[in-house]
Amino acid sequence: MRDFTLESYSSYLKAIKSNGIPFYRFDDFMAMPIPPEKFCLVRHDVDRKPINALEMATLEKDLGVVSTYYFRKKPQTFKPDIIKEIAAMGHEIGYHYESLSDARGDMKKAVALYERDLAAFRKITPIKTTSMHGRPLLPYDNRDMWKDEGNHRHLIENLKILGEVYLDIDYSDIAYINDTGRNWTSGKSNKRDKVDSNINADFESMEALLYCLTNNIPNKMIFQIHPERWTDRKVEWLQQKMKDGAINLAKMLR
Ligand SMILES: [Zn+2]
Repeated sequence: MRDFTLESYSSYLKAIKSNGIPFYRFDDFMAMPIPPEKFCLVRHDVDRKPINALEMATLEKDLGVVSTYYFRKKPQTFKPDIIKEIAAMGHEIGYHYESLSDARGDMKKAVALYERDLAAFRKITPIKTTSMHGRPLLPYDNRDMWKDEGNHRHLIENLKILGEVYLDIDYSDIAYINDTGRNWTSGKSNKRDKVDSNINADFESMEALLYCLTNNIPNKMIFQIHPERWTDRKVEWLQQKMKDGAINLAKMLR
């Protein structure tokens, strides 16, 4: 079995399910006063190829798994029909923002752009949580716009967002497993998709990850998945593999 296919993704989900770990959407999780003892949250960053997100959402629905899809407000990803279809399956839609990069670092403009794009999403579907897009080749960290206390309060109180997934979750005892860099060694090629966790969640291979999920599963897990990377179509899989290799190299050379 090759990794980064719907087949391997399905085997990960089945291993988690067979251990009795419940799946939650981020909005349901963030609305809980105390986090549950056991959980798995799957966060999809839809950076490109929304059709791949639709395929993953369908697979999850067939397995009885709920998750959250964070969409960028860009022409290639903001596809209302796909967004509505994924929401109708019971998954959460969130806003994957890059407003500070779009505003080239201008905080005030960034908040205005965020509000404009959030309103466009809410015409289609409810939005309750949000996550930043990394934009690794630009110098801005999009989260910085909410590190200003007044802006963060505005996000929660006026814009009615339950939370920003990087800033408003305590990751200290959560295994944070992510496919960034097309590997499961979260620290290595990862510029911004990082959290402060005390749990080791690095795996050398698909087999190592699957072994852990089957035999030694953490009680608290968050997966970060980029659906564009995952496909059973061989040519697309190879193209994506080459692209991921080139991106990793570009990040290393910077
Ligand atoms: Zn992203």
